[in-house]
Formats: sequence, structure tokens, C-alpha cells
Amino acid sequence: MTVLFDLLERLSSLTRVWFREHPLLAELQPIQLSALLYLARCNRYSNTPLAVTDYLGLTKGTVSQSLKALELKGFVNKVPDLRDKRSVHLELTATARTLIEAVMPPDFLSSAAERMGASAGDLEGLLLELLRNIQRGENVPSFGLCRTCRFHQTSATGAVCGLTGEPLVAREIDLICREHRLPLETPG
Ligand code: SF4
Repeated sequence: MTVLFDLLERLSSLTRVWFREHPLLAELQPIQLSALLYLARCNRYSNTPLAVTDYLGLTKGTVSQSLKALELKGFVNKVPDLRDKRSVHLELTATARTLIEAVMPPDFLSSAAERMGASAGDLEGLLLELLRNIQRGENVPSFGLCRTCRFHQTSATGAVCGLTGEPLVAREIDLICREHRLPLETPG
């Protein structure tokens, strides 16, 4: 397992260096970038300060300071929840969306995956399996894709969240969710 760990560590340090050296990201600290990347991928149930904190696995204070900095830089707007006025949602501004579109996915990763051909798809499946196994073993939130959630339902009129009972629009199906639950394992 040491080799697997070394590989994951090397890949994540290469990613950190690539982001750090990207000219468009010079003004952003790594944690601010991670928060932006999360907010660009999460759904409407998951764009709260608490969900960002849970996803990044950092302290509330650290995340709160980073979110404040993102707001001051014009990357994030705080929008009160329509039902619960004490709660806020963090919405990316057009500037933030343009920035993320310009840097994601990282060029080095796209080029390497293209050179690997079909094996890149196999690798993606295996890494997902590794992640799900870790999450099951450690009992941590899955933050998975909506379409893979145990509550995801399809009705005659479209997709529905079985947890909230609310309809889901097409683009939400491929976003990540803090309420995501892995499908129950069928007894073997
Ligand atoms: S179906 Fe699951 S992942 Fe999708 S919105 Fe509902 S709880 Fe979240």
C-alpha cells in the first residue's frame, strides 16, 4: 500500500504546483481555490459555509476567513436562504465561473488522460471504487454525484430527490451533494 500512497501523494503535489504556478490563479490561496472548485461542483443543498467546511475537512474559522476573502475579491455572493433567513448560500459570481472554466480540468491531466486512451476511463472507475471503500470504512460523508445517490429517483416528469421530495433539473444530476448517500449494499 506504500506505493499506492506514494502515487496519490505525488499526484496531489503535482496538482498543487500546477495550480500555484498558473498565472490566472496567482491571487488565490490554495484553500480559497479549493472552496471555489467545490462551490462550482456542488448543488443547491450543499453551497453553505458549513458544507464547504465539511467537504474541505478544515476548521470553521479557517474556512470562514477564506470565504470572506473570496467575497471581497468578487468571486462569491452570499444569498439568504428563502425558507430559513438565518442560513446563507454561497453563489459563484460570473467572474469566478469564467476563471474556473479557464483552468479546469487542468491541462496536464487532460493531456495525460488523452495519451492513456481507454485506460483513463478504467482508472477513473478504480479510483472511484477506492474512494467509496475508504468512505465506507471510515464512515465519512460521500459528497457523491446526485445520480449515484440512494435517494435519487426518476419519475415520469423527470428526476426527483427522494430525501427532499423536490424535482431536480437536468444539470443538478451531475453535481455533488452533501446529503448524498451511497446505495445500500445488497447482502451477498
Ligand atoms: S438525490 Fe441524493 S444527492 Fe441528489 S439532491 Fe437528493 S440527497 Fe442530494
